[in-house]
Amino acid sequence: MKKLLPMGIALLVIFSLAIPVVSAEKTMAEETCLNCNGSGTIEEEYSYTVLDDEGVVRGIISKRIEVSVSIRNYEEEQGIYGIDVTVNDDEGNTYMGSTQDIIPGNSIVKLSVTIDVERADDYWYEYDVNPPTRDVMCPHCDGSGTVEEEDGNGGGIQDIPGFTTMFLLVAVVTAVLIYRKKNR
Ligand SMILES: [Zn+2]
Repeated sequence: MKKLLPMGIALLVIFSLAIPVVSAEKTMAEETCLNCNGSGTIEEEYSYTVLDDEGVVRGIISKRIEVSVSIRNYEEEQGIYGIDVTVNDDEGNTYMGSTQDIIPGNSIVKLSVTIDVERADDYWYEYDVNPPTRDVMCPHCDGSGTVEEEDGNGGGIQDIPGFTTMFLLVAVVTAVLIYRKKNR
């Protein structure tokens, strides 16, 4: 009996050491990068700022409302910025208009849109700026379109058997020490 216990402990030690080795040999697989859907590039918007963020109503000339927005393009490159304007009058009618222009790098260009509306006593408007975009290398996969992912159930779950074995080993060693103390 006393010779069997050290043997059992030795087997447990070997077993528990073997588990992490098996875990480390998990196969790695190339998987499609979800950040760029495998294309290797992502769309990046030009950086810009709207200087008069309320927009400017140029005036109501006959039945037209003209909204003008100043945009500063911080990029070195030119780009086509779009602006979509929505005007609502006091009768609940909605008017949409849009325009676009080419803005040189780091300069201010006023975009304006003119919308034909029936002259209303009260109206409000809002607008969206659609900056140009360019394709840049996906930072998640460095442009390869694929990322290495671990196969199987994932590292967390596969590490648990190793942990359990270590816990059992500690419990067995403790039990043996208590057993030996009692038999002295
Ligand atoms: Zn990617």
